[in-house]
Amino acid sequence: MSEKIKNILSQENFSKVDLAALLAAGEEDRKLVFAKAAEIKQAYVGNKVYYRGLIEFSNLCGKNCLYCGIRAGNKKARRYEVTEEEVLEAARYAWENKFGSLVLQAGERSGKDYVRRIERLLRQIKKMSNGELGITISLGEQSEETYRRWFEAGAHRYLLRIEVSNPDLYHRYHPKNKVHDYQTRLQSLFLLKKIGYQVGTGVMIGLPFQTVEDLAMDLLFFREHDIDMVGMGPYIEHEDTPMYRYKDQLLPKVDRFYLSLKMVAVLRILMKDINIAAATAMQAIDPMGREKAIKVGANIIMPNLTPSRYREDYLLYEDKPCTDEDAEECKRCLEARIHMAGGEIGYGEWGDSKHFEKRKKT
Ligand code: SAH
Ligand code: SF4
Repeated sequence: MSEKIKNILSQENFSKVDLAALLAAGEEDRKLVFAKAAEIKQAYVGNKVYYRGLIEFSNLCGKNCLYCGIRAGNKKARRYEVTEEEVLEAARYAWENKFGSLVLQAGERSGKDYVRRIERLLRQIKKMSNGELGITISLGEQSEETYRRWFEAGAHRYLLRIEVSNPDLYHRYHPKNKVHDYQTRLQSLFLLKKIGYQVGTGVMIGLPFQTVEDLAMDLLFFREHDIDMVGMGPYIEHEDTPMYRYKDQLLPKVDRFYLSLKMVAVLRILMKDINIAAATAMQAIDPMGREKAIKVGANIIMPNLTPSRYREDYLLYEDKPCTDEDAEECKRCLEARIHMAGGEIGYGEWGDSKHFEKRKKT
């Protein structure tokens, strides 16, 4: 094994070049990176894994990100919206099964009615669970007022992936117009923090034209913006999207998977006390993908609670896992898998980011 990797891992601070070297680690060297990350995880956040029951509320979307299977321009996508009753039913399931928190995710939409509907739903979930369910939302870019209303209605965490922190690359993966503007997305992260949300962001890994140096910069971006939580996973091509034309230039899926695992591990080494999610897209490549992510640094998992009849229509990418399982089945198999990965489930706990708690105090 290489001395170079060992030396980097013994440092306290990491440059872009160091991080890129860790991300480029080969089969033997990456074991060192994984072991270091596991050690840091144990010391700073322990082996608890927190559940966030995921409800993919709707695949209606006003945007056209060039990589995404539910982009507005994909006329083949069958559009749905989960009914209010069904959301509440899934939320009740999460609450009764001591999941601690929910994530409500959907395509990006705007409009007064929509904002009000989400607000009402948030209040209903809070009321139904006596305020016990924590709520994360991931509903794209919104105005400051909307973010504030949803915060006041009970959402306390927000996930908004920057997708790629390099503005030039960002504009290659998005249509060039003002609804797909890097600065606006970045500004959203500041607004969310100002309002008081725990803020999560993330990137896709293995995009065409992306290098390990770009990924190293993504990691430094998370640190520079003092992010509380990160969710990131491999980019997976989808046939009915413009970016599919680059499919032959991508790394093989298994390499994208290991690159993603290294990103999780290196991020844990860099930001010791944040929450890191084991992304669903990891499981799309490797059936044990999320558990492997937990072993090397992740501490959050998002079991899918979207009612089964909608699941196969929330296809952000190919081979999305668990589209044919119901919640009960998912829960049992997940519990066993997490135990196998040395984790313990934090039932009934919110499992807020320790980093956020510290940030609030200072
Ligand atoms: N509309 C919201 C949330 C839903 S999309 C938003 O865009 O913020 C959730 C995430 O799915 C996106 O942030 C993106 O990182 C991811 N995603 C979309 N298409 C993907 C693909 N082809 N491969 C992997 N992840 C993808
Ligand atoms: Fe819509 Fe989000 Fe997909 Fe972009 S990534 S098209 S905003 S659902």
